[in-house]
Amino acid sequence: MNEYDSGKMADVLRAYEGMEQTDAPEEADVILFNTCSVREKAQEKVFSDLGRMRPLKMANPNLLIGVGGCVASQEGGTIVKRAPYVDMVFGPQTLHRLPQLLAARRTSGQPQVDISFPEIEKFDHLPQPQATAGSALVSIMEGCSKYCSFCVVPYTRGEEVSRPFVDVLREVQSLLAQGVVEITLLGQNVNAWCGAMEDGENGDFAFLVQALATLEGLQRLRFMTSHPKEMSSRLIATYASTPKLSSHLHLPVQSGSDRILAAMKRGYTALEYKSIIRKLRAVRPDIMLTSDFIIGFPGETERDFEATLALAAEVDFDAAYSFIYSPRPGTPAANMPDEVPAEVKAERLQRLQNRVTAQAQVHAQNLLGSVQKVLVERASRKDTQEWAGRLDNSRIVNFTGTPDMAGQMVDVKITEVWAYTLRGECVAC
Ligand code: SAM
Repeated sequence: MNEYDSGKMADVLRAYEGMEQTDAPEEADVILFNTCSVREKAQEKVFSDLGRMRPLKMANPNLLIGVGGCVASQEGGTIVKRAPYVDMVFGPQTLHRLPQLLAARRTSGQPQVDISFPEIEKFDHLPQPQATAGSALVSIMEGCSKYCSFCVVPYTRGEEVSRPFVDVLREVQSLLAQGVVEITLLGQNVNAWCGAMEDGENGDFAFLVQALATLEGLQRLRFMTSHPKEMSSRLIATYASTPKLSSHLHLPVQSGSDRILAAMKRGYTALEYKSIIRKLRAVRPDIMLTSDFIIGFPGETERDFEATLALAAEVDFDAAYSFIYSPRPGTPAANMPDEVPAEVKAERLQRLQNRVTAQAQVHAQNLLGSVQKVLVERASRKDTQEWAGRLDNSRIVNFTGTPDMAGQMVDVKITEVWAYTLRGECVAC
């Protein structure tokens, strides 16, 4: 999500300010930090990163420094108090107002703060997306209304708001016309999408997926992230009827213990989660599943953790983003007594990661010798003949290719495997 937002910030500054991106901070007229506050570590990093920009500002008083994203949304004007050399503070929903913020900063000489949530206005003010690869991200909704007890997102990104169907359709069509073949629909909970249709009714996510899949030129459709509570039977059935829908689902489960899931306010039990997976596998037997886990949520016992390990094994995830619980100010869980010692949490995290890595190793082994449709993504920085591409199930494979391959769909035979890395040979290239 933040990667997408950063791209949009660059688009806005290019379109309205004529700016180009640079990797060298000392050459920049404007430096923007796009921040994340989902865990404490990410939040604290912002201030140390900002400190490193201070000498640049001293050397070049015309340099403007901005902080966007969820830390900006949460801290607002406090950022300017803590780091007075910051010129602009803006949230995820006001990044399209960057040109106005820059102008106001230049004319007033005062730092500008705008962390409001002006609903869906943002998308009407963003420049037309420019395709830069065979694959493109399209945001279909903003915010989150789930209010999980551990999570800061509803407070930093606002409530769920879906983009209207026609807006999403036009953006996807424009990208396909530019040669894009794979679209990833983005949102905090994409399957909660309920955008307005032209007839005034609201559509659902299954409808959106089916409608986009009919578009000529689209070869693969992905989405990130979805919520178990909204894995409707219509969406599950879409996996049967829509071959363009990728055989990969990232479905955050967080815990395998019903007690912890209830304390997290996730809205499902471990059995309900497994039932979704069973139905999905019935219609898409080769679907690759990945998930998010929070380890050491307040009150997590060894028994709770073992339920998480058991669920990870039973579902047979291919990869997981797993993190130790980080109390977030303003969330209900931050006030819950947390008695699990840090070393116990660290040891549990390691056990879970070892479990998932062992599973990933077996899945990789099963791919050995198979020929897979791969969307070529990027050349290696070190060797331009070395390419990386993504399988339908979302795994990355490295192989030797030619410069004209970028953005193409090619057949690759998998020749070597490690738990999370594959190597292959291009077939008939
Ligand atoms: N909306 C999706 C869902 O909850 O199903 C995922 C989006 S969430 C912003 C991304 C991930 O960050 C979560 O799935 C969770 O594992 C992790 N996360 C969120 N808050 C956290 C916290 N306080 N401590 C540790 N991890 C956290």
